[in-house]
Amino acid sequence: MSNNQPWPLREATALLKHVESLEARGLRKPEDPVLFETGYGPSGLPHIGTFAEVGRTTFIRRAFHQLTDRPTQLIAFSDDMDGLRKVPLNLPDPDSVRPHLGKPLSSIPDPFGSESSYSANMNRRLREFLDRFGFEYTFRSSTDTYRAGTFNEGLRRLLHRVDRVLDIILPTLRPDSRPGWSPFMPVCPTCGRNLTTRVTDYHPERDSLSYACDSTRYDGLHGCGAAGELSVLDGNVKVGWKVDWALRWFTFGVHYEMYGKDLIESAMLSARIVRALDGEPPIGLFYEMFLDEDGKKISKSVGKGISVDRWMDYAPIESLLAFLYQNPRKAKRLHYDTIPQFTDQYLGQLSEWEGQDEEGRRWNPSWFYFDQNGPRPRWNVEVNYSLVRNLVVCMGKDDPAIVLDYLSRYDGAVMDAEHRSLTEALVRGAIAYDRDFEAADRNKQAPPPELRPAVGALADALTAAAAEGLVDPEAVQSMAFTAAREAGVEPKILFQALYRGLIGQNRGPRFGSFMLALGLDEAGAALRRLAAGPEPEQ
Ligand SMILES: [Zn+2]
Repeated sequence: MSNNQPWPLREATALLKHVESLEARGLRKPEDPVLFETGYGPSGLPHIGTFAEVGRTTFIRRAFHQLTDRPTQLIAFSDDMDGLRKVPLNLPDPDSVRPHLGKPLSSIPDPFGSESSYSANMNRRLREFLDRFGFEYTFRSSTDTYRAGTFNEGLRRLLHRVDRVLDIILPTLRPDSRPGWSPFMPVCPTCGRNLTTRVTDYHPERDSLSYACDSTRYDGLHGCGAAGELSVLDGNVKVGWKVDWALRWFTFGVHYEMYGKDLIESAMLSARIVRALDGEPPIGLFYEMFLDEDGKKISKSVGKGISVDRWMDYAPIESLLAFLYQNPRKAKRLHYDTIPQFTDQYLGQLSEWEGQDEEGRRWNPSWFYFDQNGPRPRWNVEVNYSLVRNLVVCMGKDDPAIVLDYLSRYDGAVMDAEHRSLTEALVRGAIAYDRDFEAADRNKQAPPPELRPAVGALADALTAAAAEGLVDPEAVQSMAFTAAREAGVEPKILFQALYRGLIGQNRGPRFGSFMLALGLDEAGAALRRLAAGPEPEQ
């Protein structure tokens, strides 16, 4: 296949090569699941970065199933044993959290008061978030995995080979950060913190280390002064984050994990560490960061920009998948004004699907949005989001029932069982989009006096066509050209004046279809109002 094949398929092809090479070397069996992983930091709520990573990984997973019947699994891993450094914004009871700074998230009481810990609450929200969008995944908690002893073999190897790990990491640190750096972060048995401890000695012969709870590595965090010896096994100790990544890859045998461009160096170091443990690093692409409306990078951990929930106020969630489907190696602005474009792209992909054969469908981006065994929406009508938005703007209506009524007169099929819920979502979204982003700035203008006769003639022609029951958009389109020609006006100038008057923009949807969607009677009346010029001042 060529290089411009869908990128999820290209990634899946590389992954298949990777697992075949592992199998050839006796490092895995074809019947064992091929493992994908995504990470989540539960100090904050899941957001669009989380959605993006799980969504894109899911695209690749589905592509992989095109290539092979090897089973797959996607691990959604929550770093809930990470220590909390700062109180995040927007917590309901920040004072309840402050005394616990420096402790693992899973040891901090839930500020929302409903779960057993801070991270238990965030983990539940993550699962609800992913479930809502139908992602299939296996949830893993870092704390539970450490405590269950699942990481023990990797921890033992890290301890026995700690010099090799230090050789990999220390040269990458600033000189003043090197003394005393350790891959291990003991959880102080006295105060429960893991951000205030430091390692003072290693005892590989006993699977343990010595620690002191007196590190001032993090501003404002102070240890309790305790010191002693701890086993590195069973959750007494976690490892620092690049090492943690390597430990996960080693323990689970992860084959595929993607990451943001800001983590390229971390991923390379983690790969060297996993090799030091005699494990194999996964493959995976790095993706460009999203940009906010000012062109600044949105980091996955911060989660600024438009939220998934807000996106869904304006458009079906698959339009966000269409956004994520674009080349992940190109930086993209993630802003509300991208919603209409990707909603129409999504609808276009669904429409193309209708006429495609099996092979064509495999190249259709929407192939990757849905489970192949599950239901998939259909879109076999000549209506898109732009048309719906323009109807809303032109009519100035915010009642979905009225807009739906217009749409179904234009194309009755929009209310068929297979289209109805998507149609309703588009109408609801378009009304909300107009209300929240555009209505306040709209400036509809009456046509200049010299164009009003042409607009009036076109109005009469539309009304006459309505009486004849005309339904051909091309015929309506040519009526506008005729009106322009007979008035000696450039068609382009006439269209511009019509759109400025009807929707407050210089350009608009294809005129013929738009007038039919509006209903020719209604359209004729609207144009007659424009031809009358601006309403007199009261
Ligand atoms: Zn302590």
